[in-house]
Amino acid sequence: MVDTKSQYLNIKSAVDDAIHEVLDSAAYINGKPVQDFTAALNTYQGSAHTITCGNGTDALQIAMMALDLQPGDEVITPSYTYIATTEVVALLKLTPVFVEVDPKTFCIDPVSVRNAITPKTKAIVPVHLYGHAAPMEEIMQIAAEFGLYVIEDNAQAIGCDYTFLDGSKKKTGSIGTIGATSFYPSKNLGAYGDGGAIFTNDAALAQKMKMIANHGQQTRYYHEMVGCNSRLDSMQAAVLNIKLKNLDDYTNARRNAANFYNNAFAENEKITVPYVAPYSTHVYHQYTLQLHNVNRDALSAYLAEKKIPSMIYYPVPGHRQKMFSGFDLPTLDLAITDWLTERVISLPMHTEMDQEQLSFITENVLNFINN
Ligand SMILES: *Cc1c(COP(=O)(O)O)cnc(C)c1O
Repeated sequence: MVDTKSQYLNIKSAVDDAIHEVLDSAAYINGKPVQDFTAALNTYQGSAHTITCGNGTDALQIAMMALDLQPGDEVITPSYTYIATTEVVALLKLTPVFVEVDPKTFCIDPVSVRNAITPKTKAIVPVHLYGHAAPMEEIMQIAAEFGLYVIEDNAQAIGCDYTFLDGSKKKTGSIGTIGATSFYPSKNLGAYGDGGAIFTNDAALAQKMKMIANHGQQTRYYHEMVGCNSRLDSMQAAVLNIKLKNLDDYTNARRNAANFYNNAFAENEKITVPYVAPYSTHVYHQYTLQLHNVNRDALSAYLAEKKIPSMIYYPVPGHRQKMFSGFDLPTLDLAITDWLTERVISLPMHTEMDQEQLSFITENVLNFINN
């Protein structure tokens, strides 16, 4: 599905040098690369404050801890997402309130959000799934109307641009109260290990999140609040520094691959290709199709025979996970989420795809579907 090895070989000498520099410096934690990367990422995002941390799941957790959410507070989030988004809600003993997604964008549906609001609602967690922005303008309006926090899960969408109705643009992850992202190796900005970051325009929140990520301390050994231990290490930061410079080129490579797929599948009534809303660009973390009247398992098996990987993201939506069976969940009737879960399939998508691979994949998908 991804080819991180070929990507590495193209930047090998820069990466190897940067890693050796960290080894020579002996500053493995919070060394200069961490400070450099944090500053560069902050500029890239156009965010006022950036805090790096151990992974994307921690980033979401630290964000929710900083907002002082209390057990029983309701957090509205899509069911149709990776489990980390909702797991963190449950871990902090908050109540996940699962809502629907828009079947075109796979992102949280504002109407469904509005219908799920109760006096206990404290926050909305939109997910920019597969690399496409959630409808942030409407989400921010709802949040302002009801006094709610917005935590953007930007783990799949770093580099995505959101355009507001007045024409202004922002990077996803820098629009809500807080944004969280991940540098897991297969993410669009991937390290060679774990990493994450948190964005906010609120100075007080930034300060607090920095403390929470560091055992609740500002001064060493004086712990003002309960925190956790979550940090990006110098080697990952050194790698990310190099990759951040290439991020826009990487995004273009993904878009070129997506265009190839789109052209090949256009006009095929059994396939719906990814939609791009007028307010969003797409950074194609995943290239995900919706199939109509196609035996998905048989397609997947047919592709596997030809050594073409394919994946279902995600086979079980949050509201059907055993993890939440002990929770008293307010909304469980998520027909669109269930409908999508049965129909989606993701094809290989990464920065190093060539025409030959793309032709081979599309020909085989069409062979199966048209026969
Ligand atoms: C990857 C991912 C996360 C978690 O990131 P980790 O770095 O793996 O902890 C959270 N949300 C979404 C939508 C993701 O895809």
